[in-house]
Amino acid sequence: MLIPHRDDVELTSPLQLPQLPNEAWNGSIAYLDRDGVIIAGSENYVNTVDEVVLLPDSAKSVGDLRRAGYRICVVTNQSPINRGLWSSSNLSMIHDRMGQLLLQNDGDAHLDLILHSPYAPWEGAWARKPFPGMLEAGRQLIDVASSDPSMRELDLKFGDDWTDRPDESASVMVGDRGVDMSAATRFGVVGILCDSDTGISGVIDSILGGSH
Ligand SMILES: [Mg+2]
Repeated sequence: MLIPHRDDVELTSPLQLPQLPNEAWNGSIAYLDRDGVIIAGSENYVNTVDEVVLLPDSAKSVGDLRRAGYRICVVTNQSPINRGLWSSSNLSMIHDRMGQLLLQNDGDAHLDLILHSPYAPWEGAWARKPFPGMLEAGRQLIDVASSDPSMRELDLKFGDDWTDRPDESASVMVGDRGVDMSAATRFGVVGILCDSDTGISGVIDSILGGSH
């Protein structure tokens, strides 16, 4: 099984979730694609820390989601790693920069979990969108971490092996491409397509019903 990856640590390593701003977690997760949703994407990938640019109001939108009780799980295909273009430590630095920029713009805009798929398309990984492996892992990791950050209770399952799936009707997957919507459908969560130049701020009202 080609499993999703976390930055710097094993997938099942202890996970300390940042506190939610207002209330106890209601069980909902906003699964967010990265490029074209939170930061500006590029045909040639986002390759360096200096190329990290937030899309307009993406920090406020992430903050709004967390203020509304969502946990945030970023799910991003990062084939440059297994294409041999650059390393996972480079990706980790890019994500550190993204996190810094988000929090500079909105103090509630924590990313609870970032998962990436390092696999190239020809590897056929379940963890690579349009397949739902990252969403499956994200749900299970966040569920377990919310009660036990040591993750000792975690028994990660994928695909048909995972039978006792929680209700995802209050959750959402936001992406700018068809592969994001396919992953959402396969996982069983509502997929919301955003414009890649506008990102998540263009669809936040339709997610939160304009109540924020
Ligand atoms: Mg994208």
